[in-house]
Amino acid sequence: PTGPLQALDAAHHMHPFSDMKALNAEGSRIIVKGKGCWLEDSNGKRILDGMAGLWCVNIGHGRPEIAEAVQAQMAELSYYNTFFKTTHPPVIELSRMLAELAPPSFNHVFFTGSGSESNDTMLRMVRTYWKTLEKPEKFVVIARKNAYHGSTMAGASLGGMAPMHAQGGLPIPGIHHIAQPYWFDEGGELSPEEFGLQTARALEQAIDEIGEDNVAAFIAEPVQGAGGVIVPPATYWPEIQRICKERNILLVADEVITGFGRLGRWFGSEYFGIEPDLMPIAKGLSSGYLPIGGVMVGDRVADVIINQTGDFNHGFTYSGHPVACAAAIANLKILRDEKIIERVANDTGPYLQKKWALLANHPLVGEARMVGMMGALELVPAKPERRRFAGEAGKIGTICRDFSFKNGLIMRAVRDSMILSPPLVISHEEIDELIRLATKTLDDTHEELLR
Ligand code: PLP
Repeated sequence: PTGPLQALDAAHHMHPFSDMKALNAEGSRIIVKGKGCWLEDSNGKRILDGMAGLWCVNIGHGRPEIAEAVQAQMAELSYYNTFFKTTHPPVIELSRMLAELAPPSFNHVFFTGSGSESNDTMLRMVRTYWKTLEKPEKFVVIARKNAYHGSTMAGASLGGMAPMHAQGGLPIPGIHHIAQPYWFDEGGELSPEEFGLQTARALEQAIDEIGEDNVAAFIAEPVQGAGGVIVPPATYWPEIQRICKERNILLVADEVITGFGRLGRWFGSEYFGIEPDLMPIAKGLSSGYLPIGGVMVGDRVADVIINQTGDFNHGFTYSGHPVACAAAIANLKILRDEKIIERVANDTGPYLQKKWALLANHPLVGEARMVGMMGALELVPAKPERRRFAGEAGKIGTICRDFSFKNGLIMRAVRDSMILSPPLVISHEEIDELIRLATKTLDDTHEELLR
């Protein structure tokens, strides 16, 4: 630890997703302020938040409108639940807004406190749906390797992260994983289009193996986020859609990252023309100002759960928390009224994408990809082969991430890929600065490797 606060943090605080022994020896980074796209740490250093927190602060940090809405709701009704036939104005208003913003077949939402809880809810709901239709044997949910769907037992089971499964007992029964459309790493000699079709057809093969009568749903992120911003080839989603329709499998688009503007649409499904039956949401729903998530439930499933199931025996104390709803409403109004998502689609998004693509000219970068404001750089030892560094995966990514922080830009490392997902309000000037810092970071990393 490097100071008294770091020492206290090391003494008492257990961190998620961190090697705590290493972290405690080094001293944690203390972030004290946030405004727009910028953070400030306890040393007064300004840092450009290239990850929007954890892919969530879509409207940027520190908007007073959210604080005001939260304060007003706290004073009016700080808490009541939505169990046992009760409700309250903020949850009604937020439900109405979501039905209006989502694709036309989505008219209902079930609220949770996080993306993980949303995926647990989704799993309970798809099994309840088939059970109500007297097909309880339709039980298996197919998901993808390297996916991330959260940290609860169901979330970590649906996710395809091997280290999480290795903790034991995961995945829970009834989860099956298939290939991911990660062309850069796994496409081999195939073109991206061929590889997209091949990985989509892995779903059909899995359904054949498990038996159509045993499969409840397929879940995937429109763009796999924590797995490394894996943008599927154009052939992928139409084929997945066809298979789900033909084989009578519910399609779940995990919109926890891609919802609320990340791809320049309200929902990532709209970007790819996906027509899901369910959409777990969280993160950008409140831009992370307060914890809230949900499952957008399409008419097909809503009709069964509402009109035929009876009691859906599921819910959280904080389902539709009034203050979290007030934060979400204020956030959605900012996204809508300031046309932030339109700007990502037509102005700042293309501007950032063009500059990001040029980073592929750097000797360390084998591929630079981005959709909306979600991007990755594949770091490679030599071009043009899509080959990885010798030795442990992630070593170079970690070096690069640490240089990035030192230079004043937060990027995330996923193995040896650098990930970017800035607040959607980022300006042209801030994009220029971001690219300057990213370029310096790549140069620093390159120099370090040549030493
Ligand atoms: N689903 C996806 C696609 C995510 O990226 C995440 C979190 O990163 C989750 C679910 C889990 O959300 P939470 O951390 O709010 O539980």
